[in-house]
Amino acid sequence: MRFLQDEITCPHCNTHGGKLKQNRPILIRDLSVFGKIVYLNTPRRQFYCQHCQRHFTEKLPFVDWERRYTQRYEEYVYQRVQSASVEQVSRDEYLSWDQIQGIFNHQFSLKKKMIGKK
Ligand SMILES: [Zn+2]
Repeated sequence: MRFLQDEITCPHCNTHGGKLKQNRPILIRDLSVFGKIVYLNTPRRQFYCQHCQRHFTEKLPFVDWERRYTQRYEEYVYQRVQSASVEQVSRDEYLSWDQIQGIFNHQFSLKKKMIGKK
């Protein structure tokens, strides 16, 4: 997979050659499968750029920055909240009210941004 290379492009100076320093996997919530809650054990890799001497964390293509849920899971929760309620979805997904509301707000602001771009 493309994002599992040991050297990647530095987002600060755009030089290819960020060196892998450490990997601290995190758990990312994904869509449930057959009614079972799914967490992906996701590599979260930190790099060091020798060119500009800065550290940076690899961005994952399927998770928004600093999020703990996959994009498709957030999309799913967003749709569910619209047809049910935050309370209902929170019960079904075993997440707190705040977590569901947080996902909803995040998706809502993303969609607003996309509409605004037109
Ligand atoms: Zn750099």
